[in-house]
Amino acid sequence: MATDYYAVLGVRRDASPDEIKKAFRRLARELHPDVNPDPKTQERFKEINAAYEVLSDPQKKQVYDLGGDPLSQAGGGGGGAGFGGAGFGNFSDIMDAFFGTSQQRGPRSRTRRGQDAMIRLEIDLNEAAFGTTKEIQVDTAIICATCNGEGAAPGTSAQTCDMCRGRGEVSQVTRSFLGQVMTSRPCPQCQGFGTIVPNPCPECAGDGRIRSRRTLTVKIPAGVDNGTRIQLAGEGEVGPGGGPAGDLYVEIHETAHSVFQRRGDDLHCTVTIPMTAAALGTKVPLDTLDGTEDVDIRPGTQSGQSVPLHGRGVTHLRGGGRGDLIVHVEVQTPGKLDAEQERVLRELAKLRNEERPTGQFQPGQQGLFSRLKDAFNGRS
Ligand SMILES: [Zn+2]
Ligand SMILES: [Zn+2]
Repeated sequence: MATDYYAVLGVRRDASPDEIKKAFRRLARELHPDVNPDPKTQERFKEINAAYEVLSDPQKKQVYDLGGDPLSQAGGGGGGAGFGGAGFGNFSDIMDAFFGTSQQRGPRSRTRRGQDAMIRLEIDLNEAAFGTTKEIQVDTAIICATCNGEGAAPGTSAQTCDMCRGRGEVSQVTRSFLGQVMTSRPCPQCQGFGTIVPNPCPECAGDGRIRSRRTLTVKIPAGVDNGTRIQLAGEGEVGPGGGPAGDLYVEIHETAHSVFQRRGDDLHCTVTIPMTAAALGTKVPLDTLDGTEDVDIRPGTQSGQSVPLHGRGVTHLRGGGRGDLIVHVEVQTPGKLDAEQERVLRELAKLRNEERPTGQFQPGQQGLFSRLKDAFNGRS
């Protein structure tokens, strides 16, 4: 006699409450008598309801799992038991399965908020570092001046829909073995608005807005980076029916600089100097964002070392102050030597006792690694 409720819903005995609910919803949609009036299907629908009633209720499920029949104990109401009284606890689940949970009531508004818009703006490193003011052209929807956003031709106005009497929805009563079920759907004549616009505005075709090109002045704060978005509230599209405008986002794209590479708010560049300058020390002029400055190469500078110019980087977007400009030094060994240069160098090698250098060997690529590390940390 005992029905296998798990088999009815097609779930395993260890199915989670969520799996049970999902299986029920799927079957309910498939087998609902309104969808499928065939008597056999209706019988099957009753079965899945009974199964769900038991398996979705922890107490009844326990009784059932222990071999009892919770429905005959609880119901006691003869024939169609399992599906009387308590069975209607599932009613909201059934409605849920069909109509979704969010049922909105009443006519929907013709007025909606406009969409946000985004525009890409290219700036160079200087502008990013110090901030700037830019004029941009935007092409967005603005409110239609002819109808003031209402969508009706001048001198006319929207009229209450006679099909739904302004409610925006029409109801239908269906009889089923569950009793009378009232269902509502958006009014087909007014698309749920509750009103009809008999004479749409010729300028905007009833949309309440038109497209227009405007020029905006945007203040770019110092310290913006690639991908920074600046929000201009209410400068996006006006919504349908003259609804409030969305926001406009200006997304920053920084063009690459010919010398400086930006990492966060620090700038990096490489200077190549001759071996003699590295040994003797020198000052190399560099065009920084703040004008020409001398980079001080100290005597004995090694290839891969770096010289920081503090506070010559990009302004911190928050908190003020600026990053550093880090100059990485690359020492160039002279390639072609004429006779005189070679003689002098050999002389130097002799003086430094470097005619037969033994070299210093280290495991792996020590030299290269430490150079990369220095470059990355901006150490000098
Ligand atoms: Zn208009
Ligand atoms: Zn209507």
